[in-house]
Amino acid sequence: MPAPRQQPAPGRQVAVVDIDGVLADVRHRLHHVRESPKDWGAFFAAARHDPPLAEGLEVVRRLAEVYGIVYLSGRPEQCRRDTEEWFRRHGLPEGELRLRPARDRRPARVLKVAELRRIARDAEVVVHVDDDPEVVAASRAAGFDVLPATWMPEDRDDAVALRRAQEEDGRS
Ligand SMILES: [Mg+2]
Repeated sequence: MPAPRQQPAPGRQVAVVDIDGVLADVRHRLHHVRESPKDWGAFFAAARHDPPLAEGLEVVRRLAEVYGIVYLSGRPEQCRRDTEEWFRRHGLPEGELRLRPARDRRPARVLKVAELRRIARDAEVVVHVDDDPEVVAASRAAGFDVLPATWMPEDRDDAVALRRAQEEDGRS
């Protein structure tokens, strides 16, 4: 007789969730990188004031009922304390927080697919939630199931500024 199907050990199946544009509304700080010269320090320093995105919080809370959570963001490592504090303030579920290593300037789509593959060495990645179309496409091309986050309203200029920042500057 075949053995009964085992429940996966807690944490063995994970949902990988982006922060900016998924959980955090970044629109109030985009002006720092829309104008020239871009002020990345100010852009990231203002992240602690991001309003939460209700839809994103609902999604991650539901995922956390079933799966382990890994937060995967292109925010630099220097944002860790502010990000953890923001998570506490808004009641986000526990999870591993992966940020961009210092001096890593790879485009978000490259950084995130590399991280997804690392995560997938130790756990089954059941879903990846991200708002950046370039990241979504790269993640899908690498074989991951993606839930595109489409709930942060964007005006066109904001969208262009953010994509350019993510692609050309490799900072977000
Ligand atoms: Mg994002």
